[in-house]
Amino acid sequence: MLLVTFSDDRTARPGILRDGGVVDLGEGYGTLSDVVVAGAALLEKIAVRFADAPVLPLDTVRLHAPLRPGKIVGVGLNYVEHVEESSRTLDTAKDLPTRPVLFSKPATAVVGPDEPIQHDGDLTSQLDWECELAVVIGRTARRVSVDDALDHVFGYSIVNDISARDQRRSGQWFFSKGQDSYAPFGPAIRTADELPDPQTLDLGLKVNGEVMQKGNSKHMLFPVAQLIADITSGMTLEPGDVIATGSPQGVGAAQNPPRFLKPGDVVEATIEGIGTLRNPVVDSRVDAR
Ligand code: MG
Repeated sequence: MLLVTFSDDRTARPGILRDGGVVDLGEGYGTLSDVVVAGAALLEKIAVRFADAPVLPLDTVRLHAPLRPGKIVGVGLNYVEHVEESSRTLDTAKDLPTRPVLFSKPATAVVGPDEPIQHDGDLTSQLDWECELAVVIGRTARRVSVDDALDHVFGYSIVNDISARDQRRSGQWFFSKGQDSYAPFGPAIRTADELPDPQTLDLGLKVNGEVMQKGNSKHMLFPVAQLIADITSGMTLEPGDVIATGSPQGVGAAQNPPRFLKPGDVVEATIEGIGTLRNPVVDSRVDAR
């Protein structure tokens, strides 16, 4: 199932993306976060109950970020070619990391499909993109083994790990990657039963229709199961938490010449089996006036 959070003239609620439209699950199941907590048993009921339900045409609804994560754990330098291009252009280490490089993005950074990425020219002239497979946790995970790790995944989505390259501070990425609108998320969550192997997915990103990133999740240095095992060795992952699993090569800083986002640009991050997450870039200083 491809699950979304959508609204029309009523409040936002969960739906199933199907046949070019959205099946309305109504308000009886709470939010999509509640559906994630309820897990597989509820999914089975929903699949049966809404098997023949009509769809609302996509152009009559608005999609939102699927849910508000409790936390977003980011993974840096998780694709070999991206480690290489980063060491060349972003002053990171040349050697492949021996353990996952982890950081955090706050929930306030999340925006949904078609919502603007804020470009603040007072804060950055190096606003960059990173198309990443997002893992949505479904069951509380603490000290989980690699073998059991994927049992804790609810599904998969897309996060664009937006980064102000010139705002890295004292080696920390939090302000560079954590600002408002720096975590476009969505448009849907593909439930894990339909993506049993997350390490086979094509992913890529376009800016104004031009291909910037192209990769496959098989090139992750630390696959999803290993990331979950590593993170949960010391940190509980809860239902609705999101892991942004790292970017393939082709970020703006590594283009020749370097290329960064500016107001008016449109960014589209696509992952096979999940969809396309599209966001325009706007000038936040103009917006704020
Ligand atoms: Mg990243």
